[in-house]
Amino acid sequence: MAFVCYTGFEDLLTELPDNVDVVFIGAFTEAAHTAYALSNLFRGRGAITVIGGPHARCYPEDAARYFDYVLGFTDKGTLRDVLRDRSQHRPAGVQLAASQQPRTLPGVRERWQFIDSTLRKAPLLKMVPMLGSLGCPYTCAFCIDSTVPYQPMDFEVLREDLRFLLTRFKRPLVAWHDPNFGVRFDDYLDMIEDAVPSGSIDFVAESSLSLLSEPHLKRLRRNSFKGVLPGIESWFALGGKSKTGALVGMAKVRQVSEHVNLILQYIPYIQTNFVLGLDTDEGAEPFELTKRFLDMTPGAFPAYSLLSAFGRAAPLNLDYQRSNRVLPFPFHFLNNNGAMNVKPANYSWQALYDQIIDLTRYSFSTRAIFRRFLATQGVTARWMNLVRAVSTEGFGRARYHREIRNRLDHDPQFPPYFEQESGVLPQFYKNIVRQDLGPLMEWLPDGALYHDPNAYLKSERSKDVVALV
Ligand code: SF4
Repeated sequence: MAFVCYTGFEDLLTELPDNVDVVFIGAFTEAAHTAYALSNLFRGRGAITVIGGPHARCYPEDAARYFDYVLGFTDKGTLRDVLRDRSQHRPAGVQLAASQQPRTLPGVRERWQFIDSTLRKAPLLKMVPMLGSLGCPYTCAFCIDSTVPYQPMDFEVLREDLRFLLTRFKRPLVAWHDPNFGVRFDDYLDMIEDAVPSGSIDFVAESSLSLLSEPHLKRLRRNSFKGVLPGIESWFALGGKSKTGALVGMAKVRQVSEHVNLILQYIPYIQTNFVLGLDTDEGAEPFELTKRFLDMTPGAFPAYSLLSAFGRAAPLNLDYQRSNRVLPFPFHFLNNNGAMNVKPANYSWQALYDQIIDLTRYSFSTRAIFRRFLATQGVTARWMNLVRAVSTEGFGRARYHREIRNRLDHDPQFPPYFEQESGVLPQFYKNIVRQDLGPLMEWLPDGALYHDPNAYLKSERSKDVVALV
């Protein structure tokens, strides 16, 4: 058996084994074309191919064109079924799924040989990924986890894993990959405190603001939580997540800013997540409010995502598809920044990109970077903010958005595609896929750059027809 974790830098053609009977690939949608090319390559060598992970859950119909098996929720039984059947299913793969997420998963100790080989590739920060829970009790309609019931993982395994890590590192750094860490806050902190001496492991976690009250922050600091990544998303919606209730606009900015500044007194690193282009936003105001938030909260690192609909990831996507607002941007660009695949409700594309560019410029201006540097405690947090701002994330995205905006005016292939008058993908995007896939481009199946953006809606409608019959 061979396991390869692709971090984006490996030469897959030399790292992957030749002689395999079954190939399992787990991929996010932005890696779908790499996965499709690999499947084609391995099928050519006689292997059976299987895809799981978020892309398979979001776009099963499309993935089935290129894989023998497409897995939704996957547990041991699902894997056993695949391995028992182990046969070609072409041209359309078989879709299999368990009824829910697995109740248990192998812990860090069991996965150590795989984690270790992946961490060796990380140049500086060696973060060990852990999962304390799956799903989320909140119901943010745009989120893939909003429909997955919340479930804690086995506390005994988590406890053992934390202890195990202390035998592997002088000071481990654990990143909790829970969709929303700390839903059962006291239970998790009790478990951590019971497992290892306070402060012997550093942690980062993605938690919603509503879970980050001052008593919780005190306990997180005692247990060496060094970074949190709460979602603010919008100044005009989703108040439940940020504990701002019905507050909107500047009133919400004030409350969230106060809260984030409080968090910064306890936790050195905070990334605040925003979604740009939501239907609740209109005009310049949402963007101006984010700028005011940055002025009032200079220590927060802002992370922006363009509104994206990942196939059948979230219930809200059905509404977008019903109103024919989903564009067929190739999967490669669905990384929350490469393209916005939902036509904005209240902006022209040009006006939206003008606002996005203005906000990005403001967020990563010399003044903002300098203020963020001063307002952040600790060497690592300061340098992380600086590096992220001047790398592909800050400066790089600003450059990319400017390029898109410019092409909306000057590239004749852009407006018809963005306005859904033409399905012909602009050459600009094809060139990027070719460049990013490199030698794997040779194995990308014909037609793989195109998918049906309304497949989810069509499959729901066909269910209705079956029910009526
Ligand atoms: S709180 Fe976060 S993880 Fe939970 S449903 Fe909302 S966006 Fe998803």
